Amino acid sequence: MRNIGIIGAGQAGLQLGFGLLEKGYTVTVYSDRTPEQLFNARLAATTYLFGRAYQYEQELGLDFWKGPGEYARGGDLDVCPAPGQRALRVQGRIQNPGKALDLRAKYSRWLAEFERRGGIVVVRDVDVDALEVLAAGHDLVVVTTGRNSFTRLFERDAERSVHTQPQRNLTAMIVTGMKPLNETPFPALKFILAAGHGEYFSMPYFDRIRGPLNCLLLEAIPGQGLDRFGGVSTAREAMERMKQVLRDFSPWVAERLEGASIVDESSWLTGAFTPTVRKPVGRLPSGRTVMGMGDVVMLNDPIAGRGLNSASKQAHAMTQAILAHGDQPFTPDWMEQTFEHFWWTEGQFITAFTNMLLQPPPPHVLRYLGAASAVSPLADTFFDNFGEPQRFWPWIASPEETEVRIQQAAAA
Ligand SMILES: Cc1cc2nc3c(=O)[nH]c(=O)nc-3n(C[C@H](O)[C@H](O)[C@H](O)COP(=O)(O)OP(=O)(O)OC[C@H]3O[C@@H](n4cnc5c(N)ncnc54)[C@H](O)[C@@H]3O)c2cc1C
Repeated sequence: MRNIGIIGAGQAGLQLGFGLLEKGYTVTVYSDRTPEQLFNARLAATTYLFGRAYQYEQELGLDFWKGPGEYARGGDLDVCPAPGQRALRVQGRIQNPGKALDLRAKYSRWLAEFERRGGIVVVRDVDVDALEVLAAGHDLVVVTTGRNSFTRLFERDAERSVHTQPQRNLTAMIVTGMKPLNETPFPALKFILAAGHGEYFSMPYFDRIRGPLNCLLLEAIPGQGLDRFGGVSTAREAMERMKQVLRDFSPWVAERLEGASIVDESSWLTGAFTPTVRKPVGRLPSGRTVMGMGDVVMLNDPIAGRGLNSASKQAHAMTQAILAHGDQPFTPDWMEQTFEHFWWTEGQFITAFTNMLLQPPPPHVLRYLGAASAVSPLADTFFDNFGEPQRFWPWIASPEETEVRIQQAAAA
């Protein structure tokens, strides 16, 4: 049986590890943190996993959080042309909903479970020298270390990377005491698009310690009105600024936050990163090669909620590709072909959809949203396709084809 090494115990790495373990492969996960350290870490993301990705982990027997907790089953979008003004409201259901779970609980539990199922776990911070040794000792090494590690090992793909700097300054937090969103007939992902300033999101969320709560994510266009979190150093301060932002930009939801607070000092974040697509083959000084997967090669802004979903889909596709490859060597050509297949079937749409949302909506998309505010199948399609952005293409790129969809739905 093949002997696979995986660097990084996140969504991409662990899901791949479980998939291969199930088929009898010898798999070693190298993690820079123990399960306890993963659990006690500072918040790194507030994520919603859509239906297909959620299904992959259910199939692997990895949904350990079936208890109480309601998750978003639709979306509720306000389009605001100016602070305090709502021009459009779009509500739609997600046909195949998923879950929003604290990744600290998930990764910690999964890493312990991986060992329990017979996987090998080595706790160490892997560097390039260590990678050399690991690449010599495994049939294949997959690097899944997220957005901050090994970025220089994988060359930036200039054709596929449209940004050279961060497009949003991010602030995220897990909050308690937030009033429920009573304006939708289903638990919803609440989106506010504040034209020229950025976006606000909130959703029901499962906190690692306290269970069902809510999380917020603010995506501020640098230097604009939502960009107020520079220099914030405590949870209390971050919460106060968030409340003030909402009072100024969308007073109709600010009231939900009045009695809310951040759950603890490690459950909020501010930061920014440059969305980047990288080449999947990492060449070590010796000439040996390793393969990248997840954020390390496809890093998207969280505006479309894609990164975790993409990591899951990449892990699923990679599991299939490794199994299909049998006993053949994992050459750089195989690595490139495996990534290209994912890119053309899914990755390009994930990246294009995310980058589209980072720009002001073109007139035909605004027209679609306007129609969706009155015609529910259009609204359902809009929110449902977040989980499967390839379904937006090719029509979303064409004003004519978008218009045809609007007319057909309106007529029906
Ligand atoms: C604020 C915010 C909100 C988000 N919301 C969403 C959302 O709603 N939906 C969505 O799909 N995505 C979302 N994302 C993106 C999502 O969190 C990431 O895309 C996803 O976690 C990437 O998974 P990964 O496995 O590639 O990397 P990670 O989850 O980052 O895991 C990498 C692991 O590798 C370990 N590691 C790092 N370096 C080393 C090393 N040298 N040696 C050993 N181990 C190492 C790390 O400790 C970590 O455990 C959001 C991101 C942010 C910042």
